[in-house]
Amino acid sequence: MNKRWTIDKIRTFVNNNSDSKLLSTEYHGFSQKLLFKCACGNNFEKTFTKFNKNNQRKCDTCQPPKAPRGQEQ
Ligand SMILES: [Zn+2]
Repeated sequence: MNKRWTIDKIRTFVNNNSDSKLLSTEYHGFSQKLLFKCACGNNFEKTFTKFNKNNQRKCDTCQPPKAPRGQEQ
């Protein structure tokens, strides 16, 4: 069941599924924090798991980590 992600696949995914850009050039595993550049210009770090599964695809300014009550996705 393990999907094999490589840095190239992740970069393509990021380009296709978000307004952010991937700045990291190496991927060592799902627990690694990757560096992204948000569309607003902020850099942010996030694991790819969060980026992918939790839809956290922007920086904390554009998308605060905790959604207001009742609006969690
Ligand atoms: Zn942002």
